[in-house]
Amino acid sequence: MAWFKREKKPIEQPTPPDERRVKTEGLWIKCEACRAIVWKKDLEANWNVCPKCQFHFKLNAAKRLELLLDGQWTEHDASMISTDPLDFTDTRAYKERIKEAKKKLGMSDAILCVEGKMNGRGVVCCSMEFAFIGGSMGAVVGEKVTRAIELALASRQPLVIVSCSGGARMMEGTISLMQLAKVSAALARLDEAKLPYISLLTDPTTGGVTASYAMLGDLNIAEPGALIGFAGPRVIEQTIRQKLPEGFQRSEFLLQHGFLDAVVPRKELKGYISSAFDMFLG
Ligand SMILES: [Zn+2]
Repeated sequence: MAWFKREKKPIEQPTPPDERRVKTEGLWIKCEACRAIVWKKDLEANWNVCPKCQFHFKLNAAKRLELLLDGQWTEHDASMISTDPLDFTDTRAYKERIKEAKKKLGMSDAILCVEGKMNGRGVVCCSMEFAFIGGSMGAVVGEKVTRAIELALASRQPLVIVSCSGGARMMEGTISLMQLAKVSAALARLDEAKLPYISLLTDPTTGGVTASYAMLGDLNIAEPGALIGFAGPRVIEQTIRQKLPEGFQRSEFLLQHGFLDAVVPRKELKGYISSAFDMFLG
């Protein structure tokens, strides 16, 4: 038994230790390239480009459309959702992952496909969202891109696809790989109809997306410093048993070696793409 007993009510607990700090988290961000501490609002106002060193942070799918289009657009196939054909589970059920991403991002899969205007010209534009299961391409992304191409064909409008993807969606196995062929076949029809397609590759564009529509543009352009490749550098090093050169798989290196047509800073993209369409279509 204790010697003393507190009769009165204990003093009210002060603020718990984890709430004592001044809430500044989320207001500032450290630049991955120059390590400068940047105010998040400044970064956002600058289209997520570091004001100090011009490092290009990721831009989400909707912001990307804002960057490229004139204000308003009409979204197509917004509610298309994966049926989880393999009933796949790894560390978690695929269905759960989709549900969570959908709730967090308000999108039903990793791409937005829209019709809008770019400097006054009607265009069809697809924009990938990396935050949705790594921007991976499953049946929904493949089908939506194919339908966007068919829309461009039917309405005789040029096409822009902004890629940002880790590749094919492994939770859909072979079905995700079949999208490569389907999208490529649709793009061949667009080519026969003499409608231009510009592919914009952003950080990162890898795997099955690089192996299909991202590299099939009439122009393939990229943002500065973007990681672009098929297999990862470690896999390549192990296969060819050689050390890879500095900057390998970055846009500037790919431009130098003829894999890209141009590296264009984010703020010049809209002007660049729309004058390219002027050149193609007159
Ligand atoms: Zn920076």
